[in-house]
Amino acid sequence: MELKLYNTRTREKQVFTPINANQVGLYSCGPTVYFHAHLGNMRAYIFADLLKRTLKLAGYDVKHVMNITDVGHLVSDGDDGDDKMEVGKKREGKNAWQIAEKYTDSFIDFCDKLNIDLPQGEYLCRATDHIQDQINLVKALEDRGLTYILDDGVYFDTSKFQSYGEMAKLDIEGLEGGKRVADAGKKAITDFALWKFSPKDQQRDMEWDAPWNPQGRKGFPGWHIECSAMSMHYLGDQFDIHTGGIDHIPVHHTNEIAQAEGATGKAPFVNFWMHNEFLQFDENTKMSKSSGKILTVDDLIDRGYDPLAFRYLMLTAHYRTPAKFSWDNIDAAQKTLERLRAKARALNSSGSPHKSALADDYINEINKALFDDLNSASALAEIHGVLANEDLSHYHKHMILHKFDEFFGLEFFKEEEQAEIPANIIELAEARKTARDNKDWAESDRLRDEIADNGYTVKDTPDGFEVTKA
Ligand code: AMP
Ligand code: ZN
Repeated sequence: MELKLYNTRTREKQVFTPINANQVGLYSCGPTVYFHAHLGNMRAYIFADLLKRTLKLAGYDVKHVMNITDVGHLVSDGDDGDDKMEVGKKREGKNAWQIAEKYTDSFIDFCDKLNIDLPQGEYLCRATDHIQDQINLVKALEDRGLTYILDDGVYFDTSKFQSYGEMAKLDIEGLEGGKRVADAGKKAITDFALWKFSPKDQQRDMEWDAPWNPQGRKGFPGWHIECSAMSMHYLGDQFDIHTGGIDHIPVHHTNEIAQAEGATGKAPFVNFWMHNEFLQFDENTKMSKSSGKILTVDDLIDRGYDPLAFRYLMLTAHYRTPAKFSWDNIDAAQKTLERLRAKARALNSSGSPHKSALADDYINEINKALFDDLNSASALAEIHGVLANEDLSHYHKHMILHKFDEFFGLEFFKEEEQAEIPANIIELAEARKTARDNKDWAESDRLRDEIADNGYTVKDTPDGFEVTKA
């Protein structure tokens, strides 16, 4: 069956064929590890995971590489402002290396909880482990006359790279008209830092010697260079698929292409560029990374949700349509997943293997949906169809669910868990009991409401209280 994928580069759904017969080179932009990844970020990784699993279902070997951005991603896209790692340092009083380690661990933990199959070993690669690759790439660009040096770093001269902004269909003249950036000394608004010099008066936790060192200043890589350098290091000058969120199209991925193609002279750098739409948050769940208020996988667990309910929710929206997160949505997803699991567990798997045209049709439809640009929503609808169809035997229902269980990563046959009451809810209930003992009825009512807002009910009992899920 043909696998069709939507390619941002051509703005078309295209039949996918890899460069090398059976092996697919896949690179995914990974997290910036200065804070926990939020649920929006996790959508990007669930999408990459769905893509990888679909490629495997189609029979390909997948060489999957993902970066960990642990240096150089500045707060603004305009090459000024702090390195995000510095923001993490200031927040927590740790050094940049400790921040990077803490949030890399947190990211891996979230991926585990969501059954995201991360690249293993060196294929999950840190920018700080590939400084020399990045320096070499900047050097290659310099040798080709595509750079210039300013007081604070080495810059890519986008006017010298003919096809700059082609994938993003950037209106360069319109952007230039805006001229917001020239004051930073750049020749054009689209030029960007390849290598930044450490501040004159301050030693950074992360800094390296490089061929560019005015007044002996060490430096660190710009953000975009790591992805070009590491993807080419592991996958070659040209490879099959590159993923990321849609926000990366106009700047980060545009610059990755310029760096790679500028240095090697080979185009296209990547055959298929694939981008996920954003997860949006409503007023009740609004997030802001800068204020430190974000929703994470652990927040879902604290509220008593199975993280896989979030995975389910993400798989019920096509990756190219905006999805909404709300407590109602995650609630509904959890209930649906629980019902689905209850039906799966009730299946009697015994029975003699025999062919069923109906079962084959379902398998075919599920593959067809997935191979049509990863339509996981339709594929899951087919799974519900399988369970509801009275013409299918238990044996065949079980066989189909078992077959796709590993694919979806939703643990269809998971035993029901006794819902544990999260620790923060117990604390609220204890505080409420103290308030009641002190006859502080207003506080006791307020705490009961807060418990209810979190989806739990508290009742007084002769020996204290009882909390149940609402
Ligand atoms: P960052 O850690 O900021 O570099 O982002 C990691 C990934 O998450 C990138 O691929 C972003 O495009 C993606 N991303 C950021 N915010 C969202 C969101 N709200 N929904 C979906 N993807 C997002
Ligand atoms: Zn990247």
